[in-house]
Amino acid sequence: MMRPCTLCAARRGARIPALVRLDHGELPICVQHRRTLVGFRDEQPRRGRPLGPFGPPTEQSLDATPEILTAVRRRRALRRRRRATIDAAMEAAGQITSGWRNWPRRRGESDAITTRWGGRSELLPRVVEQVIRYPETIALATVFARHPQLLNTPRAATGDPTPMMFLLHAAHYLQHPEPGQLLRRHHPLFRWAGADDLPNWRWRNSSEPDRSIHAALRADNIEPLRLR
Ligand SMILES: [Zn+2]
Repeated sequence: MMRPCTLCAARRGARIPALVRLDHGELPICVQHRRTLVGFRDEQPRRGRPLGPFGPPTEQSLDATPEILTAVRRRRALRRRRRATIDAAMEAAGQITSGWRNWPRRRGESDAITTRWGGRSELLPRVVEQVIRYPETIALATVFARHPQLLNTPRAATGDPTPMMFLLHAAHYLQHPEPGQLLRRHHPLFRWAGADDLPNWRWRNSSEPDRSIHAALRADNIEPLRLR
């Protein structure tokens, strides 16, 4: 349960309930007023426990993180234009981003996406992870909604896309600043794609598409490669 947006409540007065229940997958934000909502339970300090360094939660402006509102609009557009594939796309994307931090990282190894989420969390302290991760969740959902065959990547039946094909799309849509990170054997996207099951990355000849994708990712330069 969330408290409704105070600006919406002020405008509509008594016609708005004191608490609202969010639909499944709905974000605790008011898009119209570009702000986060506050959970009902968040405002109840547990007995003997202080509220923490930030004091009672308040609605926070999303103006410093416009990518969250852009993602909300993109999801609406996908729902209109990719009605057949959006649900499966959202589910797969949500699973990937919600499990992202559970993948082991080597000591001192940075991850561009985790760094991005950390920066966003600093701008929006105490905002739920689901909101912090939303732009990347929607970026991956866009990959799957537009290219639903990529959902088959980990199953790798004949004719299914290869892990390299998926990684290239993911790097493009995430606007990943260091695509080479996707080739780490323990990277969430590499693992999701089942790429770690493959033998050493050797190809018979230099014209194999996967080989050029691998080389471009490794060189952190995917721009010259067109998506199919
Ligand atoms: Zn509002």
